[in-house]
Amino acid sequence: MRRRNILKTIGGIAGAGIVGTVTVSADDCPGDFIKPGGPFPPETANINYNSFTSNETLYNTLEKLDTKSNLEYEPIGETWEGRPIPYVRIDGGDTDVFYVTQQHGNEQHTTEAVLKLLQKFAAGGRQVDKILDELTLHVIPRHNPDGWAPADDNEMPQRENARPEDICHDGPYFGPDQCGPVDPNRQHYFGIDPDVLADADGINPDLIPDENPSPETQAMLDRTAEVDADIICDWHHQGTYRNEDCELINASTLWPLNEAAPEAAVNLSRKISAHAYQETKDLGHTTWDTYPGGTTANIARNGHGVRGRGSVLFEFRGQAEDLGNAGNGMITTIINTVMNEILEGLASDELYEVDPAAADDIPPRGDYFWKELPREEWNPEHEAYAE
Ligand SMILES: [Zn+2]
Repeated sequence: MRRRNILKTIGGIAGAGIVGTVTVSADDCPGDFIKPGGPFPPETANINYNSFTSNETLYNTLEKLDTKSNLEYEPIGETWEGRPIPYVRIDGGDTDVFYVTQQHGNEQHTTEAVLKLLQKFAAGGRQVDKILDELTLHVIPRHNPDGWAPADDNEMPQRENARPEDICHDGPYFGPDQCGPVDPNRQHYFGIDPDVLADADGINPDLIPDENPSPETQAMLDRTAEVDADIICDWHHQGTYRNEDCELINASTLWPLNEAAPEAAVNLSRKISAHAYQETKDLGHTTWDTYPGGTTANIARNGHGVRGRGSVLFEFRGQAEDLGNAGNGMITTIINTVMNEILEGLASDELYEVDPAAADDIPPRGDYFWKELPREEWNPEHEAYAE
């Protein structure tokens, strides 16, 4: 049922008129429900989260990379359950670029993709050297290890962090008496001038709590401020969508929409989205649409933008609930490709030459498509899937 609520939220934001939607009914795209690679694993499939990197393996891998390469692994804090918040720095040029994965614990392919990227940087080579001539890369691989932790016991991972149920706060965005786990990607307003937040988002600044309910998010904000990050890319997963050609949409993107974000930051962000789209749209399986996100500064994409940084959201197909361990190969490769293209585009200056208006060429939001369609919309293929 939780995803019903997520669907409602997405629908509500899309209803604000940010982007259009296409309409493809379940019957318009016959034969695409069950096939290799997607959109969903059959219900009879065993979901095996052990095919992903466990928290323990993640920490061990990062420690090894630190020892044997130019990668520096240094946790930037502790989660509610006392796990290290992982952070890796690869020193290079003057432009500081952050990649943050798995703010939501149930969005695990992003972390697999960034670990592949880290392995590549640890191995070195000409392409890596060219990037490091220009950029210093900062990676938070699995921002929310508590959210992922259940998967290490092969249970469903969770979107939120692990704040205990008996700890509560009043907040300016979601009202009074918020208890228990919070969404780390809704806590990025801490440290922004309250008057700016009041003007742009219409919130009551007196309701901003003293403590961030997401220590994970606060650690990220502190580190990005410390190095005065130029660019932050935030890597996520979403539900399954398809376009009017019945193609599954595997990648989505969006830039800051908050009115307090300076134009230069928004334009840089739009260049990044447009470049990622242009460089990958003709590759197999990398079908894009525009993410219908909100405007408020508590969301990372907007909060970093208000701070004047280039800030881009990337969303890929399939949260844990939809995809389980399916698509690990294909989706992870797509994410890793986009991650590489952005770094190469920044290092070669090609990305900076993109017209920010080209972000508007990315197709509008596709049509929501997932396995829990209302029963009355099921066709024989859906019936077969459930058995
Ligand atoms: Zn997410």
